[in-house]
Amino acid sequence: MTATILDGKAFAATIRAKVADGVATLKSEHGITPGLAVVLVGDDPASQVYVRSKNKMTAEAGMASFEHRLDADTSEDALLAIIRKLNDDPQVHGILVQLPLPDHLDSDLVINAIDPAKDVDGFHISNVGRLGTGQKSMVPCTPLGCLMMLRDHHGSLSGMEVAVIGRSNIVGKPMAQLLLNDSCTVTICHSKTRYLPGVVRRADIVVAAVGRAEMVTGDWLKPGATLIDVGINRIPDGDKTRLVGDADFASCVEVAGAITPVPGGVGPMTIACLLANTLTACCRANNLPEPEGLTP
Ligand code: NDP
Repeated sequence: MTATILDGKAFAATIRAKVADGVATLKSEHGITPGLAVVLVGDDPASQVYVRSKNKMTAEAGMASFEHRLDADTSEDALLAIIRKLNDDPQVHGILVQLPLPDHLDSDLVINAIDPAKDVDGFHISNVGRLGTGQKSMVPCTPLGCLMMLRDHHGSLSGMEVAVIGRSNIVGKPMAQLLLNDSCTVTICHSKTRYLPGVVRRADIVVAAVGRAEMVTGDWLKPGATLIDVGINRIPDGDKTRLVGDADFASCVEVAGAITPVPGGVGPMTIACLLANTLTACCRANNLPEPEGLTP
């Protein structure tokens, strides 16, 4: 069997187009422009690339983009003051603080200072709790993108067995919660899971969010399973490097029923979902109906 390739790049483009339509309607019918503020502290090269890409896509969707680049030695008080200002700014509907923050800053404190209604990353403790109790919340972008791809491919996910590999607050846990809310039977795996391949082999859907290059191999999979590969790992390739996922694509594509490639799978969905969340936050802030298909 050769798996269907789930094309995240193409799917993300349809989500971004839907967001751009929603933004155009908000502007023409209500005179409102959704705005996303991105706060970057320090000069981590990967973060700089993400922030550039986010700014470009925000502008392409017709949204306002507000960028705050701060020195690596910015104090916690100064950062919190900026967040308070953004919380109070009616032109800003979404606030994203790029992680990781420099070591002297308390990420939890900073994230929990964001107005939960503007927390487009969905990391605020109040949004985590709301997601966990099935209430309307802002949902973390990467798991939201994975859920959209799974629903698009399968339709209903009800009753499916899922193995989520990874229990981070950013990907694994919210992913598991979203799938549980969709009535899947979810097993969350981590570094202490005994005999991981055996747990994975039971699953109709596998979500790999581990951060270990090509760890999941085809012989771990139930034939026909859907594999969502969240991993982004850079490995040496001759005198260059290349990106690979947490799954060994060559062996998994022969066993899976459907698989996301790396690059071009989950990655593009993450930014598309950030834009979707910003539009959703803007609609909610203005008591307007939310566009369909952009929230869980
Ligand atoms: P973390 O490092 O925060 O979490 C990794 C998880 O994997 C942990 O729960 C850890 O277990 C588990 N793990 C590590 N080694 C093993 C192992 N040998 N067997 C089983 N489980 C293991 O990573 P993130 O969740 O932040 O990211 C995961 C991957 O997804 C990374 O490659 C990252 O680059 C990528 N990513 C991609 C995004 C995208 O847009 N496509 C967005 C965010 C992340 P334990 O808790 O026990 O330590």
